[in-house]
Amino acid sequence: MHVAIVGGGILGCSISWALRRAGADATVIDRHGEVGHGSTSASCGIVRRFYSQPGMIALAHEASHLWADWGAHLGPIEDELARFERPGVLLIPPAIDASVHAIIARMKECGVAVQLLDADAAEARFPFLCADSFFPPVPTADPDFFEPTGKRIAGAVFEEDGGYVVSPSLAAHNLRLAGERDGVQFRLGTTLVGVERPDGGPFLLRTADGGTIEADAVVNAAGPHSGLVNRMGGVTLPLETRPLRREVHAMKNPRYEAGGGVPVVGDLDGGIYFRPESRCRDLIVGSADPACDAFEWVDDPDDYNESISDLVHDRQTLRLMKRFPDVQRGPARGLGALYDVTVADWYPIIDKTDLDGWYVAMGTSGSSFKTAPVIGPLVAKLVMECEGGRDHDVDPVVLDLPRTGLRVDASFLSRLRQANATTGTVIG
Ligand SMILES: Cc1cc2nc3c(=O)[nH]c(=O)nc-3n(C[C@H](O)[C@H](O)[C@H](O)COP(=O)(O)OP(=O)(O)OC[C@H]3O[C@@H](n4cnc5c(N)ncnc54)[C@H](O)[C@@H]3O)c2cc1C
Repeated sequence: MHVAIVGGGILGCSISWALRRAGADATVIDRHGEVGHGSTSASCGIVRRFYSQPGMIALAHEASHLWADWGAHLGPIEDELARFERPGVLLIPPAIDASVHAIIARMKECGVAVQLLDADAAEARFPFLCADSFFPPVPTADPDFFEPTGKRIAGAVFEEDGGYVVSPSLAAHNLRLAGERDGVQFRLGTTLVGVERPDGGPFLLRTADGGTIEADAVVNAAGPHSGLVNRMGGVTLPLETRPLRREVHAMKNPRYEAGGGVPVVGDLDGGIYFRPESRCRDLIVGSADPACDAFEWVDDPDDYNESISDLVHDRQTLRLMKRFPDVQRGPARGLGALYDVTVADWYPIIDKTDLDGWYVAMGTSGSSFKTAPVIGPLVAKLVMECEGGRDHDVDPVVLDLPRTGLRVDASFLSRLRQANATTGTVIG
């Protein structure tokens, strides 16, 4: 069986390699001249396990083991390896309520080293972070933006061994080399422009250079372009996905000289997330989607602003300076990039579709870099079993996760699901 994977981002690279190892012939098609140059290249690469759904906790935890043992996971390749830096992940929810306690309990059941810190303990552990509460975040134009609230954070969830991968593009390249070593074909610099399926036979993928690629099955892993690619195949999904513009900004890390020690911080109380960058010289900061900020939906993923704006730069860096008072304003640096969001619940859609032979790994909602090493085997299992006659809609694929000993029923990522109960933000 020959499977064409549209998209050579972190997901396409992981999926194609897993398909090849499962016995399929696999060809990755990407319009860029190198893998990992789509939304993967803008990823912050954060690896955390705090998720509302148990299945996502399990996938993220399994993946964290693979990131930690990346060289062994890949096997021999001639490349610099992506690094998993593990300064810990400190998540500051606006409230420590029953749902947070339930997530912590589930994380512990999965074997995640996680602890709940109160405001004093968080401040003692990270004295350079302010433990005041800023919830609910407000726009910078709000007269109260800089006013002390007189409240402390409700607490923080600390994942001792969480962190981030540098660099996401390099991780995709590592996977490309592992895939090529094992027989995956890469057709880079090749843009898919149309899909035909004469007489219900194999798919004919038409490319911009006038060529065709024949495939028995197709996996759409085209990131923010995945909606367009589905349209080429005549595929519609019950769950809506949309590209969403984001900005990430870089600031100098005031702790660099002092030896670092800055964790990844998911500051839901303050409306941002941040982590060290460039071997701790910098910090990068993004949005945790507070309710006061409008979403920047994008109609055409080929037409959006890749630069940064004063509005978003101001609000993200000023929020960072409230949480981390030693940070100083410097020259504006950063980028604009796209998420591919599943609007209903911000969880990815990993599924077959109503078109036989057409599969999707899309709607990744700004958080599927971390799980990519596990989504690869999941999609491979899905494709191999469905092509072998399994009806995943009624008899869902279950993935064994060997590093953690956990099992995941993939139906929570189905296109037919009721929306998962999530935060409806990048936090999931
Ligand atoms: C700013 C930002 C920060 C993020 N931070 C994190 C994080 O901290 N942690 C985390 O886990 N996740 C994070 N994510 C999410 C994560 O990076 C994405 O979910 C993941 O990289 C998506 O990978 P992908 O392979 O699906 O898509 P992409 O990397 O976008 O790859 C899709 C590929 O498809 C190709 N393509 C599209 N159309 C065509 C066509 N017609 N023909 C041929 N090729 C085509 C593109 O060239 C592209 O290379 C972040 C994302 C962004 C944008």
